[in-house]
Amino acid sequence: MWPIYSDMSKKDLKFNSKTIHGEQHPDKAYGAVMPPIYQTSTYAQTTPGGHQGFEYSRSGNPTRTALENALASIESGEYGLAFASGLSAIDAVIKLLNPGDEVVSTNDLYGGSYRLFKQVFEKYGITFHFIGMQSVETVASYINENTKLLWVETPTNPMMNVIDIKAMSDLAKKHDLLLAVDNTFATPYLQRPLELGADIVMHSATKYLGGHSDVVVGALVVRDKDLADKLYFIQNASGAVCGPMDSFLTLRGIKTLHVRMERHCQNGEAVAEYLKNHPKIEKVYWPGFETHPNHDIAKSQMSDFGGMISFVTKGSNYEEAIKIVERLQVFTLAESLGGVESLAGHPASMTHASIPKEEREKSGVVDALIRLSVGIEDADDLIADLEQAIG
Ligand SMILES: *Cc1c(COP(=O)(O)O)cnc(C)c1O
Repeated sequence: MWPIYSDMSKKDLKFNSKTIHGEQHPDKAYGAVMPPIYQTSTYAQTTPGGHQGFEYSRSGNPTRTALENALASIESGEYGLAFASGLSAIDAVIKLLNPGDEVVSTNDLYGGSYRLFKQVFEKYGITFHFIGMQSVETVASYINENTKLLWVETPTNPMMNVIDIKAMSDLAKKHDLLLAVDNTFATPYLQRPLELGADIVMHSATKYLGGHSDVVVGALVVRDKDLADKLYFIQNASGAVCGPMDSFLTLRGIKTLHVRMERHCQNGEAVAEYLKNHPKIEKVYWPGFETHPNHDIAKSQMSDFGGMISFVTKGSNYEEAIKIVERLQVFTLAESLGGVESLAGHPASMTHASIPKEEREKSGVVDALIRLSVGIEDADDLIADLEQAIG
């Protein structure tokens, strides 16, 4: 059974109000403005089946439902599903497929997604094609009668390529495929794939949605009831659900998503411009630059350009890149992204170490590449920190 949905429809709100009110309502018991953390595994029944919508917390939990409704609202969807991690959300999508099915995906997607596809699901007879999805013709050339799903990540991680969601949606509809978009980097503040025709939007809510580096959570949002039911069946059958405490924290994070994102974008621009003008910098990857190869698409499908930036310093290599990230003091050297604090990472040895060097370098993830998740501190401090680290 699908968990109870809010009776208060707030679909007409603007985005910056939806983060706080969209499909969110005071708790029925005492009017608590934030949903209580229903730390319970089970629910009393008056007679077998006589319950108030919840019977076991893998199948449904009121705090998780509150988060799932809020997720559906901010992504302009109908149904939200919250998982134990971003990867378990992706796992549920791939479990819609059968042996023999094929998936077309980006060649510089998140390393963990690549590992899940290659090392877990290929064993079950599902084939994945990792290609540059900037060209619709290229994507079309990989579609055959076994293709069932396009898996898109945009902007891509860590190369900040931008893929045209509307064009992918047209292609998916033409060939009767599902289109799933990993919207972790952009967040619904910047881009709402369901409005552009995607069938499934996925998040690592661990990143910007949670926003405070204190949870590992995943999310799916869809509009279609049949698809929602299939995914809900998998979520319940496989069991990688988001717990009540993590649901609460993620919901709290969502309430400030718009104000955090505004600052992430401002600081991102300041840092990107600083790096671009730095004499020791070879290349900066950020979709906000007019010279970015997909800037026009970014401009049309995103409302701003975000705080994720990758760069390479001149004549750099593996050792030099490591020295730079070690010297940073305001930026924390760490995996992950999207929190209030600025983080720096070295994809070749960290997030993307699970992708073979040859595959990695084909898509530009060279040993010298450094990735920044620009936080919401004072931009002057971030720039001063980069200045001392780059030298
Ligand atoms: C982190 C991340 C994931 C995986 O999410 P987890 O919450 O770590 O399981 C998937 N996609 C992208 C783009 C990510 O950054």
